[in-house]
Amino acid sequence: MSELKMSDNVVASVHYTGTLQDESVFDSSEDKDPLTFLVGHQQMISGFEQEMQGAKVGDRRTFTLIPERAYGERDDAGVVQLPRSQFPPDEELKVGMVLVAQVTEGPLPFRILTVGEENITVDFNHELAGHDLTFSVEVVELREATEEELEHGHVHGPGGHHH
Ligand code: ZN
Repeated sequence: MSELKMSDNVVASVHYTGTLQDESVFDSSEDKDPLTFLVGHQQMISGFEQEMQGAKVGDRRTFTLIPERAYGERDDAGVVQLPRSQFPPDEELKVGMVLVAQVTEGPLPFRILTVGEENITVDFNHELAGHDLTFSVEVVELREATEEELEHGHVHGPGGHHH
């Protein structure tokens, strides 16, 4: 067994369950492959990595992150009205739908709040913004990242990029 610990530039595989304060599950790796990520390269929310620092294979940790350490507070400026003409004419728009806008900074997901004839109200806030998030995490595997992975800033192979 390796004595590697969760720290920057380590590739970590974890099983996790994330719950909101009403105990509803918003995300979980249960019945799926573990989540694999390169620690210290902004692949995960910062609070998650901070709470898992130093954990070894087999360790389980449960912690709660306030919004500042997770997806931030909701920003009312993130709710905007867009003219229907900005959407593809043949796309059927529904409340709750998540679409992705292509902006200069890259893909930006947003959710549809209301659908009018002229205008569509959308929300660019992250779905989990403004929420305290509780994570229950088990470390499944840890390994040193390859030089190529460090250069790219992400994981290659199982659970990562294939290119
Ligand atoms: Zn790569």
